Amino acid sequence: MASTKYIFVTGGVTSSLGKGIISASLAKLLQARGYSVTIQKFDPYLNIDPGTLNPYEHGECYVTDDGAETDLDLGHYERYLNTPTSRANNITTGRIYNNVITRERKGEFLGKTVQVIPHITDEIKRNFYLLGEGEHDIVITEIGGCVGDIESLPFVEAVRQAKFEKDENDVAVIHLTLVPYLKSAGELKTKPTQHSVQKLLEAGVQPDVLVCRTEHPLPADIRRKIAQFCNVRLQHVIESIDAETIYDVPLLMEAEQLDLRILERLHLPQRQNPDLGQWKAFLERHKNPTQEVTVALVGKYVDLRDSYKSIAEAFIHAGAALSTKVNINWVRSEDLEDGDVAEILSGVDGILVAPGFGERGVEGKIKAVNYARINKVPFFGICLGMQLAVVEFARNVLHWADAASTEMSPSTTHPVIWLMDNQKKVKEMGGTMRLGAYACEVMANTKAALAYNRAVIRERHRHRYEFNSKYLKQFEKAGMKAAGLNPDTQLVEIMEVTNHPWFVGTQFHPEYKSTVENPHPLFKSFVDAVLKHQFALAK
Ligand code: GLN
Repeated sequence: MASTKYIFVTGGVTSSLGKGIISASLAKLLQARGYSVTIQKFDPYLNIDPGTLNPYEHGECYVTDDGAETDLDLGHYERYLNTPTSRANNITTGRIYNNVITRERKGEFLGKTVQVIPHITDEIKRNFYLLGEGEHDIVITEIGGCVGDIESLPFVEAVRQAKFEKDENDVAVIHLTLVPYLKSAGELKTKPTQHSVQKLLEAGVQPDVLVCRTEHPLPADIRRKIAQFCNVRLQHVIESIDAETIYDVPLLMEAEQLDLRILERLHLPQRQNPDLGQWKAFLERHKNPTQEVTVALVGKYVDLRDSYKSIAEAFIHAGAALSTKVNINWVRSEDLEDGDVAEILSGVDGILVAPGFGERGVEGKIKAVNYARINKVPFFGICLGMQLAVVEFARNVLHWADAASTEMSPSTTHPVIWLMDNQKKVKEMGGTMRLGAYACEVMANTKAALAYNRAVIRERHRHRYEFNSKYLKQFEKAGMKAAGLNPDTQLVEIMEVTNHPWFVGTQFHPEYKSTVENPHPLFKSFVDAVLKHQFALAK
């Protein structure tokens, strides 16, 4: 088998240029030509993983099948490629150092001074290649942060070394940069790009391809100038113009022939023209919806949309499948605590209560659940959203006034949501929740069964608390029933209110598994119920 090819994607000038989307778009094009591709992200921070980070720091924490808590870019990778990622796809500086220091304590470097070069850079390279050899034709590695940042230096140095130790035709470097438009001068400016490439050159890395983020098309003379000053071929200056949606970017990159330039550089055959039929059909439906609905997304961090990235994207996939534009009305859970709930939620066709941790905003979320249940508005509760749906039902239907989750009220007399047994002894914070994919048996004659049309599903988790099964009989008698159970532990995974058009809470996070080519069945079913509700109201 031919050796694996490695593509590194670095960034300069500023963060948020969209390295993740460019990496995912290139990967999509190469995959659509018949190559097996994976993408990994290297993050320069010292946390072992983003699991302990507040969403304000780093947006949503994305969970993989194998239970890794990862950067939200991995969500993009999966949504674009429709293939799962794993723990090996997201590495932080913290993990690299932790691995090296653990080995040092075991005596593996006995007698030697352990240093950034070669020990840290060797460990970085070992992780660069982990998903290659035999596994994939092409591995794309996105280096987080900007060139010139002190903390990215070891990664850039490892890229420099990789270029030398691999065959020249096996490694390519793409640098993503900004070409700003100065209104006062009426011109696109190339200097920031020149400087950022200089930074990369100082570190000994000559980029092969420059992807230039811009708000205006790049004219030929600007492309020539960039090529000349940055020592890259003219055809290797790629324009990345602001797009209407992130899902346009693969097509924009195809038009700029980014995939062809990379294949040439890596001496790989073109194989076929990218087969993007399904992708284009999705885009067509996404851009030309025939119906429109508004869903309230009730959460603690709604001022920071990236906190709920996968949910927002899952609505785009499900909406497109039903030719429906799903508008999200972002509702801060705390605003529902003293505000007029009916007024805040009056205009929405469906309500989703988001995942979360801790006490803040919880009572507001419970009010949203109550509004949805009483007014028969389609309701979707995810993780904490499901747990609070259980609490609301316990308080207002079963009349257990102080029912609660012990996460918020440790001394409640009705702990309807409580700590999982194996969580009771957990002391450390990082990576200690119930994480990753577990099987769930779906009960017949439920909304979930209709949506999935399968008896056993596998969904991803990230939680410490669970439904307290000793109350299940009482819930079921009163009209809220378990629609999904873990076959090994009998843990309740799905709860549904029966006397309601669509009221489903899941302990797992379906949003992590929604992709462009595989919209999630529960999101589709929810949007469908929202459409029906809207239609019924209009009559
Ligand atoms: N805080 C809850 C738990 O730990 C819910 C977690 C979540 O919504 N992801 O069980």
